[in-house]
Amino acid sequence: MCLVTLVSFETRQRRRSKPSNELSLECHWEVLAALSLSFVDASWWRERLKTKAVQWTIGDRNGEAAKRLAWGDLENEWHHQHGKRWPTWQCAGCDALISGSQALNLPDGNRVHFEPIDCLIRFGKRWRGAACEALVAFGLEPPGLDGDQL
Ligand SMILES: [Zn+2]
Repeated sequence: MCLVTLVSFETRQRRRSKPSNELSLECHWEVLAALSLSFVDASWWRERLKTKAVQWTIGDRNGEAAKRLAWGDLENEWHHQHGKRWPTWQCAGCDALISGSQALNLPDGNRVHFEPIDCLIRFGKRWRGAACEALVAFGLEPPGLDGDQL
């Protein structure tokens, strides 16, 4: 659950039990706290991208290649910290039961069907898409695609 959704949920819960004047002030502080945290997060991710891009330029790598590698690092970091975790009985690629099927245990704790390979591919697109979306929401700009990375 994202922070804004959480604040929204808690606000709705409190609305049921508090007089409206207390609710207004309390909600205001909660929203400010959520926005502050979001601003700190955004700043941290932007600085992290700059740092990683500089690190990847070491070794005579061009700026665009370094930025793509840095972006991949950030997607991994975001996923490690915030990415969705499926229950062990459920495939993170197709959402079906793993059941008695052979499964691939991934480093993030998720599991996918070993076959078909589509489950692993779909999961990769899922978590990278979620990470990319979160980073873009923080104001980061993903690197351009020029076909070299495919
Ligand atoms: Zn599957």
